[in-house]
Amino acid sequence: MTDWHSDEYAQAQDAADPLSALREEFLVPRHQGRDMAYFCGNSLGLQPRAARSHVEEVLQKWATEAVEGHFTGRAQWMDYHALVRAPLAEVVGAEASEVVAMNSLTANLHLMLVSFYRPTRERPAILMEAGAFPSDRYALESQVRFHGFDPATDLIELAPDAADGTISMAAIERVFAEHGHRIALACWPGVQYRTGQAFDLAEFTRLGHAAGAIVGFDCAHAAGNLPLALHDSGADFAVWCHYKYLNSGPGAVAGCFVHARHARTDRPRFAGWWGHVAETRFRMGPEFVPTPGADGWQLSNPPILGLAPLRGSLEVFQRAGMHALRERSKRLTAYLERLIHQRLDDVLAIVTPADPDSRGAQLSLRVAGGRERGRGLFEYLAADGVLGDWREPDVIRISPAPSYNTHADILRFVRAVEAWRGAGA
Ligand SMILES: *Cc1c(COP(=O)(O)O)cnc(C)c1O
Repeated sequence: MTDWHSDEYAQAQDAADPLSALREEFLVPRHQGRDMAYFCGNSLGLQPRAARSHVEEVLQKWATEAVEGHFTGRAQWMDYHALVRAPLAEVVGAEASEVVAMNSLTANLHLMLVSFYRPTRERPAILMEAGAFPSDRYALESQVRFHGFDPATDLIELAPDAADGTISMAAIERVFAEHGHRIALACWPGVQYRTGQAFDLAEFTRLGHAAGAIVGFDCAHAAGNLPLALHDSGADFAVWCHYKYLNSGPGAVAGCFVHARHARTDRPRFAGWWGHVAETRFRMGPEFVPTPGADGWQLSNPPILGLAPLRGSLEVFQRAGMHALRERSKRLTAYLERLIHQRLDDVLAIVTPADPDSRGAQLSLRVAGGRERGRGLFEYLAADGVLGDWREPDVIRISPAPSYNTHADILRFVRAVEAWRGAGA
């Protein structure tokens, strides 16, 4: 019988997988003389080695060419955001003209809502999940108020219908059946940040559109985690950040998707000069003419230093391929799940759905015995160089990232929990 709990097994799994070599492309933080077992890629992905060289290239260009840097070389700043367009479109499953890297996630959400949330007296509401990431709720609630409507009635928050805190498609179908006629816009997560539940974006979009609503997704926890098919999903828009699974550094420039059917929309938008068609932007005329596609929502000339690490990160995704990364991710998460069931069932309850297609890399683990005990375990692990992240009141999220985590990291996590239990905690 296979001993999944042995070093030999973990090492053999890592050795058999060519993608294990990707770890060398990342800087893994050290803890007491050895690499950390870092499981926080759902919060801040590790630094790709290529990030530094791209940042240094920009600094060097600035030092030696100054303003001329806008117009010289392949990585000229004038078109810099276009360098990330094709690889980014591949990661999220979109046409190149449907994606743009700009601003931050919450800012992009607001810009999308300006164009796509057009409430009327008959149809004023936004549908969202209850327990959403707070920034999303703040953004959506403030938009409802901004249009003069009342969040108490016009911000519909669908609560989880399953005991584990997940939301079924049936519940989503029911809420559209009941409130669909009043819903102007539905904003939904690609992957829920607390539970790790992944949603069928195409099915959600189908239900939303059938009810007459605009559909947008927050893919903060989905982009770079699962292969997305944003174009084929039919979604009207999506937003995400690049510092989680896309490894582009703290506060990295975010992403935005606008479906091709809206490429030439005459919906209202908040305009800025970088959204103006490139050909005539520098005539500096008074009238705004939007660039067709997602580029037309840009406001400012982009932060080149902020975009540079994203170039480095996307090179890794291009080399590995999103689908191959996902296959490795499924293997890693299944290994974690199997060891937890085999060894830690008395300590950790898995909140995340068991169906691999209904989750990404992350497993959310509820610690038996409540908050104090959970905090105790979390801190024990951190002191041992095993870093997950903590969600109140009693959940540790462990997210094995396929580009740098290994089976050996996972075994180390499991053994650390066993050692903590063995110490009588
Ligand atoms: C990480 C995350 C955010 C963070 O928003 P920023 O604008 O990047 O600070 C927002 N929403 C969700 C769902 C997230 O997971």
